[in-house]
Amino acid sequence: METKLRCHLIEGTPTESDLSPSDAHFDVIKTFEEDSHLSRRILKCKRCGQLYFYEFYEEIDWKEGNDSQYCTYIPIETVEEAEELNKKSQFALLGVVPRLQDDFLQDGTKTIEWMR
Ligand SMILES: [Zn+2]
Repeated sequence: METKLRCHLIEGTPTESDLSPSDAHFDVIKTFEEDSHLSRRILKCKRCGQLYFYEFYEEIDWKEGNDSQYCTYIPIETVEEAEELNKKSQFALLGVVPRLQDDFLQDGTKTIEWMR
């Protein structure tokens, strides 16, 4: 299991500039879903080749128009692993560790945190 934890993103606590813009840091290997409020992809770290299952989810708040956004990065070893993860709901993905959460909450709070 430890063999998949090789990326510099895993060794430390990433900052916003480690993650965005996404195309500066990751190649898209496969897109499962592509919507303005939900997208799911397999990303590959440009630096080390580590694969990630990636999900972007935006919660829609019609009143404020200031939507919370959740980005999840789950390190994986194989494309098949991502296909298994893709069968899970976005709530079930919250039970998967380790995963990196890059969240922007409605109150303006931005957090980048490993869940292990
Ligand atoms: Zn890396």
